[in-house]
Amino acid sequence: MTVTIARQGEIAVVTVDNPPVNALSAALRQGLWDAADTLDADASVAAVVLVCAGRTFIAGADVTEFGKPPVPPHLPDLVARIEGAQKPWTAAIHGSALGGGLEVALGCRFRVAVPDASLGLPEVSLGIVPGAGGTVRTPRVVGVPAAVDLVTSGRPMRAAKAAEAGLVDAVIQGDLLEGAVTFARQALTRPLPEPASSRPVAAPEAEFWAEQEKAVAKVAKGAAAPLRALACLRKAAEAGFAEAMAFERETFLELRGSDQAAALRHVFFAERAAPRPAALRDVEPLPLRRAAVIGGGTMGAGIAAALRDAGLPVVLVERDDEAVARGMANLRGIFDGAVRRGKLTEAQAAARLAGVAGTTDYAALADADLVIEAVFEEIGVKRAVFEQLARACGPDAVLATNTSYLDPRAIAEGLPNPGRFIGLHFFSPANVMKLLEIVPVPETSDRTLATGFALARALKKIPVRAGICEGFIGNRILKRYRAAAEALVRKGVPIAEIDAAMRGHGFAMGPFEAQDLGGLDIAFLQREGARAAGQDVAETLGDILVRVGRKGQKTGGGWYDYAPGERKPQPSASVAELLAREIAPGAAMSRDQIAQALVAEMAAEGQAILDEGIAQAPADIDLVEIHGYGFPRWRGGPMFATGIRG
Ligand code: NAD
Repeated sequence: MTVTIARQGEIAVVTVDNPPVNALSAALRQGLWDAADTLDADASVAAVVLVCAGRTFIAGADVTEFGKPPVPPHLPDLVARIEGAQKPWTAAIHGSALGGGLEVALGCRFRVAVPDASLGLPEVSLGIVPGAGGTVRTPRVVGVPAAVDLVTSGRPMRAAKAAEAGLVDAVIQGDLLEGAVTFARQALTRPLPEPASSRPVAAPEAEFWAEQEKAVAKVAKGAAAPLRALACLRKAAEAGFAEAMAFERETFLELRGSDQAAALRHVFFAERAAPRPAALRDVEPLPLRRAAVIGGGTMGAGIAAALRDAGLPVVLVERDDEAVARGMANLRGIFDGAVRRGKLTEAQAAARLAGVAGTTDYAALADADLVIEAVFEEIGVKRAVFEQLARACGPDAVLATNTSYLDPRAIAEGLPNPGRFIGLHFFSPANVMKLLEIVPVPETSDRTLATGFALARALKKIPVRAGICEGFIGNRILKRYRAAAEALVRKGVPIAEIDAAMRGHGFAMGPFEAQDLGGLDIAFLQREGARAAGQDVAETLGDILVRVGRKGQKTGGGWYDYAPGERKPQPSASVAELLAREIAPGAAMSRDQIAQALVAEMAAEGQAILDEGIAQAPADIDLVEIHGYGFPRWRGGPMFATGIRG
């Protein structure tokens, strides 16, 4: 039984039990409907508490019903049924009340929650708007400004904040059910509040909506749902309940069939599948208790911070005392930044830092379960590190390299017990970026591979398995993308026009401004290395800039000029002059054409990567581009966007 009823005196307790997350399946909707009928008919019941078994309240829609014709009872009707019940319902929330789960709770007369519960309407992240009154009841309960935040961002709120906003009537310390029953009983002694649908809502001025529209559009970067959700909220504030419900429904149905919603569902399912590949289902990963990082530079410090965020103690090995101090300072900088942004308290930051032991002594690695190497990108340096690791670490410890371009097989050469070796390619900043490319060598054992995926889960990252080639999946596509962008410049398309086109397409940045931010020298040095090794690498436009010292923002100029201390790119007369001989005048392309052309290049490289078996599925390539390279999520990734699926 998905829904059961028990009694505590005059209070009926309705328990939902639909593992794993109490999703709103048709059976659950029907069960709640029947419970409302039964309890309305029972004169001995004075009030109802709705509670969920397992780890969470109703966490949302049933994803297996996505894209299928809806089965009655429909959710909006169920929410109205609960709201119209003759006895007041109290939703008792633990875990997450998300989407339809929160809408059901909004149909209840009261909501109580444990302190670590979270409540939210994440529909916009799936390209839709709430479809069962979320945009209409929320502003009536919390007011318009708080509703705008909740509905257009899709970000859930913790119970305390929800209580401040009025979304939650009481935060329950201790046993939730007991607290909720007591709350429901006490509520009977006071006049009942109006149901959400009958409450008045203060409608803000037109100016408020104009401001919100601007702010939401800026964050949405082309995603449609957040703005449509805002329009629903405006309707909810300015029209009556029924009219606003009809408007929300219409918007919901239209968006559900949209390309953006299809793309976002694709990404949602790909993200859900990524951390647990079917091939490793029966493989037990190595338990991770202690980790180590070699190298405390940009990547090493970021990786160590990510490991600390996941609660693992970390040993950080550097080459000398000064470098240890620098590495620890890098880490302090990361945690201090988190404090400034309100993500950590001072005390938490101090504890994170205290969990890192900086040292030059490899003996400190004796009991590490996992070691991640992030030293200079030089094969000799890396090999020397792995020789020391082989001596210092236990025979089963997983040994990983964070190399971007070197062949991991060459790094692992001669390593005793090579089954424990693997490439774990993080992205900068490593404590923020969600992507983790997992690169096994032929010797890598299944257990080591499974440990890589388990690490990704512990770090809340999106793991993608990649085969060995230059740049793996992401940097290989990046190289093609940049080359294609340069080819457009050679044809006479202005640099600033290309960047604007990609921003207009939904990227945070265009390819040239992104290079200015990251520095042009890294790719340049890599090409120079290949040239020195006798490879035939054509001169790029970027090379011409680096040769005259234009390495990007850090040198005051790259593809653009920058005023001292400024980050705003200004088209550069010197660049125009430097590249004049390389550029054919005046190819005219619309921004749309530019973006289509560059995405097509990414997809073509993706197809080659698939054909070579470097990536296992088009969806993996989409995840790499979305989580590592800023590809607009609502377009589903380059493969999905160009129709390469499956
Ligand atoms: P970095 O120069 O910032 O840091 C390298 C660190 O390694 C330095 O602090 C150096 O002192 C230390 N080091 C050098 N030799 C050492 C040794 N023998 N023992 C211990 N420590 C040693 O470089 P980074 O940007 O952090 O890159 C590190 C690795 O990560 C490289 O392989 C790079 O290709 C890869 N990577 C970089 C990025 C990026 O965006 N920077 C992204 C992904 C991967």
